[in-house]
Amino acid sequence: MGFNKAQNIIGLRVLNDNVVWLWKKNKSLVVIDPSVHEPVIKYIDENNLNLKAILQTHHHSDHIGGTKYLIERWPNAKVIASAKEKKRIPFQNVSVEDGETLNLLGEKVEIIEVLGHTNSHIAFFINRKNPVLFIGDTLFSGGCGRIFEGTYQQMYSSLERIKSLPKNTLIYCAHEYTKANILWALNLKPKDQDIKNKLSEVEKKLSLNELTIPFLLDEEMKINLFLRAKNLEEFTFLRTNKDLWA
Ligand SMILES: [Zn+2]
Repeated sequence: MGFNKAQNIIGLRVLNDNVVWLWKKNKSLVVIDPSVHEPVIKYIDENNLNLKAILQTHHHSDHIGGTKYLIERWPNAKVIASAKEKKRIPFQNVSVEDGETLNLLGEKVEIIEVLGHTNSHIAFFINRKNPVLFIGDTLFSGGCGRIFEGTYQQMYSSLERIKSLPKNTLIYCAHEYTKANILWALNLKPKDQDIKNKLSEVEKKLSLNELTIPFLLDEEMKINLFLRAKNLEEFTFLRTNKDLWA
């Protein structure tokens, strides 16, 4: 479990490599992409919290698997997902569009559409002095999501959009894939000192049983080859290369 006290955001590592994020304020909780329900319910009960909302970045089963069970227990919780979703997210009761702003736990949360991984993927941006982005499967540390429903152009544009956010944005993605991503990047850029340093940092955290997420946009732009890609052609080459890399 990774716990970031300053942000009140807790990561539960579940399944093989998923991370469910819990955003807490006083006795209220918002859950992001609950792939499973049991550890989430356990955390809520142990801390005597009330579940206010479930944020869904997209419809994949390892992001929505726990939603049904959480809603059975907290039927008044909101299930927030893209208005473009077509009934793939259980109990969706708040549909949002790009640019819309929600008020959650007393904070302003902006919806940013990031297509590519799916054709209705969204991100949740907490716009504050120390901004936070829940990015789902669009960006990972050292990598980016596979393109399942969208196009390379859409994914490239989504990453460009992320790059335009404040550089001190802390990014919370949904998978602990960092080490494998960094090894791939080093295979392509074996002499890159920033990526080498990142590998040491990641190996240290993992050896201490810590999450390598969240990560800072500013630092990620130095080591993530997808964010460093200068144009769509370079991005397409990298994404195709990564898909083939074992
Ligand atoms: Zn996914």
